[in-house]
Amino acid sequence: MSGSAVAALAAAGGCAPRESEKGASVSATPWLEADVVVAGGGPAGVCAAVSAARLGAKTILVERFGCLGGNLTLGHVSPILGKVCAGTMADEIRRLLNANHLDAPKVMTRNGPEEHIDHEEAKGILARLCADAGVTVLLCAPVVDAQMEGPRVTDLTVDTPKGLRTIRAKVVVDATGDGRVATAAGAEVKIGRESDGATQPSTLEFVVDGVDESCAITAWGGTDPVKLPSGEEYRALCKRMNAAGELPKNVTIVRLHRTFYPGERSVNATQINGIDPLDPVALGKADVELRGQIDQCVAFLRNHVPGFEKCRVKSSAGTLGVRETRRVMGDAMVVDADLHDGRHYPDAVVHNAWFLIDIHNPKGGGQAEGHSHPAQPYDIRYGAFLPKGIDGLLTAGRCISGTHRAHASYRVMTPCMAMGEAVGVAAALAAKRGVVPRALAASDIRDELSRRGVQLQQA
Ligand SMILES: Cc1cc2nc3c(=O)[nH]c(=O)nc-3n(C[C@H](O)[C@H](O)[C@H](O)COP(=O)(O)OP(=O)(O)OC[C@H]3O[C@@H](n4cnc5c(N)ncnc54)[C@H](O)[C@@H]3O)c2cc1C
Repeated sequence: MSGSAVAALAAAGGCAPRESEKGASVSATPWLEADVVVAGGGPAGVCAAVSAARLGAKTILVERFGCLGGNLTLGHVSPILGKVCAGTMADEIRRLLNANHLDAPKVMTRNGPEEHIDHEEAKGILARLCADAGVTVLLCAPVVDAQMEGPRVTDLTVDTPKGLRTIRAKVVVDATGDGRVATAAGAEVKIGRESDGATQPSTLEFVVDGVDESCAITAWGGTDPVKLPSGEEYRALCKRMNAAGELPKNVTIVRLHRTFYPGERSVNATQINGIDPLDPVALGKADVELRGQIDQCVAFLRNHVPGFEKCRVKSSAGTLGVRETRRVMGDAMVVDADLHDGRHYPDAVVHNAWFLIDIHNPKGGGQAEGHSHPAQPYDIRYGAFLPKGIDGLLTAGRCISGTHRAHASYRVMTPCMAMGEAVGVAAALAAKRGVVPRALAASDIRDELSRRGVQLQQA
């Protein structure tokens, strides 16, 4: 990073850094060193870090916010969606999140039972998981740059409350969701639909309490035919109220998921289209807009939906829920045919990933293609995690290499966790052997995953 960029960063923070805190990023001596450094502590990053540490790698996890979890905690996203083969860390995390709630009622949907998240509990569960595995977690430490030696990422620059710092890594994992490290390293990225670059809308999720369980509904999406006591389908009511201006412009369904606790619903409804979620100015504007939309959705619920007359906002996301930004192009990519045909590959490190092709409409309400499309359980090949032309770097989570439509399926949390685990294994093995991740055979990673009990299809 150049000196002027450092100055600009300091200026953006409102004051110049103290002299002793300047220039740390250009110091030849790194502040910290590790075998594996994972950027981003969401579902993918936590699994990557824990997975690497369990293989004996000295591992640092660097998160920009003040707690772990990404969308799983601060994004207030619930339930956990998607599937992968049995035996991955997604099973382990589900068990941990459910441990205190084995008797809680589950709602059945066309995708199986909904698995809730207590966002507050999850913060502690993920922190403990990392601590128990021996991961060093850095909070409030956004990665702002990457240093290279030729095509290889060697160091990350991290902004800390004490100024910029350098962390040296044998292998780096980019689990930032936004491909932040890969972009700094000069990797090829794509954003949005192949036709016009439009991305899925963003949403601020929230939880309401004060719901009367004796008559209140749940509603998992725009195809849920749940009826109100009046006999009207709830989704028809939402569309009617949207047309009448009682719901925000692009909000044609107010999804109402159960939580672990009676009298609560997790609400996935607000929507902003056409913004650039990588632009902080846009994020500020979206926050004002969507917090207004929360008020409008709550008024709709109170006025029109039986059982919600006394509901109130219990909590809301601490960061905008961003469905889609960069996809980092890799040696391989997840393509539409993988999902349609349920393709399997001998170099797969994630097996039987599955979720619908769920494209929230970039240009309006509802689904982009009228409705979500089915997918067959598909494999994700090792090459999808290896950014083309860049060494020393792996991706995990929603920023891996795939098409816009494939991303709309693998972006949900279960596949992202399984990706993190597989990539953590790859990072640890590469660090241990002193090779770049690209030099590993997929079978090396598969062998270790199988040893852990991951039910991969035999190659
Ligand atoms: C509104 C919404 C609703 C959704 N609904 C569901 C659902 O019901 N079920 C489901 O399973 N999935 C759902 N998803 C998808 C799912 O939540 C995400 O795709 C998933 O969390 C991706 O995991 P991830 O680890 O790749 O990224 P994220 O969860 O986004 O985590 C990325 C982490 O990286 C950190 N980070 C980013 N930049 C930096 C940086 N420069 N330095 C350090 N750290 C950084 C972030 O703070 C964050 O903690 C939803 C998503 C949204 C937005």
